[in-house]
Amino acid sequence: MNQPAISRRGFLAAIPAAGVALQPRIIGAADTKPALLGGKPARTDPFPSWPVFDATEEKALAEVVRSGKWGRGTGKQVEKFEAAYARLTGARACLATVNGTNALIISLNMLGIEPGDEVLVPPYTFVATVNAVLRQHALPVFVDSDADSFQMDPKKIDGLVTDRTKAIIPVHLGGNPVDMDGVVAAARKHKLVVIEDACQAWIAQWRGRNVGRLGDCGCFSFQATKNLNSGEGGAIISENEDFIERCYGFHTQGRMRKLSSEFSYNLSGTNLRMTEFQAAILLSQLTRLEEQSKRREANAAYLTSLLREIPGIVPAKMYEGSTRNAYHLYLFRYEADKFGGLSREKFLKAMQAEGIGAAAGYDQLNKSAFLKTTFQSRGFRRLFPAERFARWEEQNVTPANDRLCNEGCWLGQGHLLADRTAMEQIAEAMRKIQKHAAEVARA
Ligand SMILES: *Cc1c(COP(=O)(O)O)cnc(C)c1O
Repeated sequence: MNQPAISRRGFLAAIPAAGVALQPRIIGAADTKPALLGGKPARTDPFPSWPVFDATEEKALAEVVRSGKWGRGTGKQVEKFEAAYARLTGARACLATVNGTNALIISLNMLGIEPGDEVLVPPYTFVATVNAVLRQHALPVFVDSDADSFQMDPKKIDGLVTDRTKAIIPVHLGGNPVDMDGVVAAARKHKLVVIEDACQAWIAQWRGRNVGRLGDCGCFSFQATKNLNSGEGGAIISENEDFIERCYGFHTQGRMRKLSSEFSYNLSGTNLRMTEFQAAILLSQLTRLEEQSKRREANAAYLTSLLREIPGIVPAKMYEGSTRNAYHLYLFRYEADKFGGLSREKFLKAMQAEGIGAAAGYDQLNKSAFLKTTFQSRGFRRLFPAERFARWEEQNVTPANDRLCNEGCWLGQGHLLADRTAMEQIAEAMRKIQKHAAEVARA
């Protein structure tokens, strides 16, 4: 899709190159000086701010306030949101939760992941994925990444499974679906449950089916930076209504929906309920999600077509089975050797000066010191023999992910809510920096 129309500036820039094949996608003047060296920034306007809201949210919130029904149980907003989110994703059932981290924790509990079990996780993720496993006193075992897609590489699962391995948590990082054919096949082979961490992947799809519906359940986050936002919030979806009912019970002190009396407890649980305020905001934000997602997708496709012309900027690959990317992040690798050795840090600084705040991605989470401190705790030492930690150390070798941590960069979802010109400015900034990389390095 998206044959970009040749921009006026691009057209003019192409004229002197008569005799050379016209390159319609070359836009902007790479010859102009980078902003870091005193040139004019590629973009002077700010990117769209987040969150997006209007009177819809104000009215919805005021109605909850005036109703006096602020908690789930008295009000109806949380239930309405659950029904709407199930409908949107096509899932049989949905439970709204206090946040995404606890959506994972509830799922681990209700799928029978217990202290002393092992759970396969990707190393390239937000720390919450791993914290959820550690809170359960289970051992996170890292499956190396596919550096082309930034996602867990299911081909690397096989050697990591032990008789204690119970679950696998694929994370659709940045909204880009994991190779779920590979994950589901490995899970079947080794009899593992699959908890999809879709906390960055609202309405992303794998082979036309919404993510979160490919494994046993899917967990979502509605934290303030996320594409669907209620400040804090989360949800679990599943095709298994019975499982969602058990999650419901667990998240409200072990009291199932159909109680024999007000104080009958069916299981041990906790309180992880969403408030009516969060749900009211989410119902309002939901009215914009599809339109915003379409805009991000169209802009991302255009940006990818522009960045393909820049050696050393490598947008994250989408698998053939990915039919929709939620674009929480626009992921790409920066190869310094194609920029005359200019460091990623300096490249990002130069991008910032161009008016385009891109970020270096995650650090090597699987090499973090806090993991070992946690393993040294009394509880963990009771649950796992010392040899297991030694073996964990040997297995924790992730060359593809290490590369990703050196080269990974991203643009936030807000960048993709801007217009097409903004995508051209992003590409123009990179081209300017590349052309003048040696001077930028010295600056
Ligand atoms: C945001 C996020 C979470 C946690 O969600 P919260 O709502 O912040 O608790 C978990 N996993 C990933 C990949 C996330 O991006």
